Amino acid sequence: MNRWSWEKKQFFTLLFAALIVGFFIGHLLELFFLVVLGLWIRQIILIDRLERWLAQGAIGDNKKIKGIWGNIYYHFYKLKKKQKNNKKKLGKVLMRYRKSTDALPDAAVVLGDYGRVEWINIAARKVLHLKKADIGSRITNIIRVPEFVQYFNTGDYHQKICIASPADENNILEITIVPYGSGMRLLIAQDITQIRRVETMRKDFVANVSHELRTPLTVLKGYLETLRDMDDGESVYSRSLEQMDVQTQHMEHLVDDLLMLIRLETTKKITECVNVPELLNELCCNVEITENSLQRINLRLACEAKILGEKSELRSAVTNLIVNALKYSPDDAKVNVVWRLNDPGEACLSVEDSGEGIPAAEIPRLTERFYRVDVQRDHKVNGTGLGLAIVKHVLARHDARLEVESQLGRGSCFNVIFSGERLC
Ligand code: ADP
Repeated sequence: MNRWSWEKKQFFTLLFAALIVGFFIGHLLELFFLVVLGLWIRQIILIDRLERWLAQGAIGDNKKIKGIWGNIYYHFYKLKKKQKNNKKKLGKVLMRYRKSTDALPDAAVVLGDYGRVEWINIAARKVLHLKKADIGSRITNIIRVPEFVQYFNTGDYHQKICIASPADENNILEITIVPYGSGMRLLIAQDITQIRRVETMRKDFVANVSHELRTPLTVLKGYLETLRDMDDGESVYSRSLEQMDVQTQHMEHLVDDLLMLIRLETTKKITECVNVPELLNELCCNVEITENSLQRINLRLACEAKILGEKSELRSAVTNLIVNALKYSPDDAKVNVVWRLNDPGEACLSVEDSGEGIPAAEIPRLTERFYRVDVQRDHKVNGTGLGLAIVKHVLARHDARLEVESQLGRGSCFNVIFSGERLC
């Protein structure tokens, strides 16, 4: 039946009966008033019943109630049933999600307001030593490592940090915090002890091999020099001796570059105020570095900015850039070295050449170790493929970035940009 038809039928039947009875007994108005009052009281009773039914959790569908009120009860009942089903489904999804995060080898901790722990996975108990009882406590009261507390409080989570594990200080944890939702944060802790061990082994191996190669190389070089001094340049061995000399030099550069990289990876940063204009003057006038191409270098010092950093590292990085610019451009082409301040107050060193240029696709790979661009040249250009890797490491230790602009056949410009905070 239509939602309102039962109500209408009820109302008009009562009204009609009241009219007839009222007409016969001569109290038409009073009876009409009584009918309206009765209907009004019924509505109040039904509203009260609905309120009580809702307050008790809306149990049952109240099928006995007829008319529009019956429909209202029915809609509430349906809504509740739907909500119950949704809750069931959500519960299942949540359970599956929890099972999958529990299967993760990394610790996952959900943090709410003020960094309070809201949920932890199984790995968090092992990796971070968290317990169920820690739920509700602030994470900085549980993990009290000063580096972590400082990192957590800064609110800048672009970088990860490594700390000693609160469970076992011989283990190293890499911590990542991901903010999400409103004020929520997800903390992920990965045990990287094994990765670090392998990394240390690799570094030790390269360092040991490089050191061990040094002595035989020096001996070889010495004998070669003696042999070349004795050679008149016309003998059958002259060419072989020259080739041996070139290869020994190449190996020497390789060992030096590898040792430099190891030093950059393993030694602590030292910071002093480095007079960059003075350093550039010194480098651009150095005959050894420029290989007698002094006249090819145009040095322009547009500012006197000094940088907080390590002088020997900066010298090595700038030398690599200048040597590359000279090496990869024609013998008579100029190289511009410019030191200036740019608009946002950053200090910028540009080394620009008009040489062979670099294909755009190769630029992102230039700083990889041993990466050399495959170019057909008339003459062989010697190199180790480690120069720009050294530049990358040095710049990382100085919070600086490298930007490379290049056009094939036209030249390249390597820009080293130091943030304003590094000026001293
Ligand atoms: P390499 O010892 O081979 O010069 P680098 O790491 O210094 O090693 O450079 C990697 C490669 O990048 C080089 O082999 C060269 O192909 C390319 N490259 C570096 N600088 C320049 C430059 N100024 N112009 C053109 N190519 C360059």
